[in-house]
Amino acid sequence: MKKKRKYKDFRLLPASLISGALIGLAVIILSVTVHSIYFSPSSTSISKAEIIPQLLKPKPQKILTPTPKVSSSIYVPQTMGNQLKVPILMYHYISNNPNPEDRQRDSLATPPDKFEEQLQYLSQNGYVTITLDTLYAALKKQVTLPSKPIILTFDDGYIDFFINAYPILQKYHFQATVFIPTGLMDQGYYLHWDQIKQMQESGLIHFAAHSVHHYQLTALSRQEALYEMTESKKILQEKLGVPINFMAYPYGSVNQEVINLAGEAGYLGSAGTWRGNIQSEGIIYNMPRLRINGLIDMKTFTELL
Ligand SMILES: [Zn+2]
Repeated sequence: MKKKRKYKDFRLLPASLISGALIGLAVIILSVTVHSIYFSPSSTSISKAEIIPQLLKPKPQKILTPTPKVSSSIYVPQTMGNQLKVPILMYHYISNNPNPEDRQRDSLATPPDKFEEQLQYLSQNGYVTITLDTLYAALKKQVTLPSKPIILTFDDGYIDFFINAYPILQKYHFQATVFIPTGLMDQGYYLHWDQIKQMQESGLIHFAAHSVHHYQLTALSRQEALYEMTESKKILQEKLGVPINFMAYPYGSVNQEVINLAGEAGYLGSAGTWRGNIQSEGIIYNMPRLRINGLIDMKTFTELL
């Protein structure tokens, strides 16, 4: 009974994802636990000099994610208001896999050389990076988009974004949006606030919220979920001095109540993790994205767009 209601709440999702979501639930519960252990606040801050060797050091898988399918068809929702084809790419780590046998790490990490190859393709093929604010304005018919718009997003605020992704984005003059779990910065493998500020000042990198603690929002009470969304928005606005209008749901975990709370918290929209490249005015609080990782070759990458 509960499942049925949940499906209605998830009416934006393709039916084929529902069974995957059930399997994913068990994985999410495990990964929340592992995530909170590994990225506990007791982790000491590490300098840039210490980070680079650490990227090469083999370590056990910390976040468990099902290996994504890369060839299933893309779901296009019907009758959801104004619609625009705007692929939103979803990256996590931009770093080499320290252990090539660790296939699960491949599902979250894109090696820097592969990332550069992808940006080079986008650049040579006329893609223009835009922001979530611009997408929102375009869906509201306030602005016209370039002919091949694309949005690059990076979840979780890992420090390898600053070390590896940022220089490549600068090289191609590409804009990007990083979703920040505000309570996790300045520790462990996460970005430092001074790096975030430095990148924001470049005008190329934009920041959006990803809750405070990276909890699964659907598992929290109404009050707790609202806090995660309002507090992360407030902290980012205070630190960066700009309005923060967008967020992404940790683990893509969302239902109608969480969508309502995102609106209540003052967001104009939010990114989900379900697969698609058509953005709809009526699904602005659960925008589909395309997961990019080390398992995707260039042919598959270009077919996704
Ligand atoms: Zn995340």
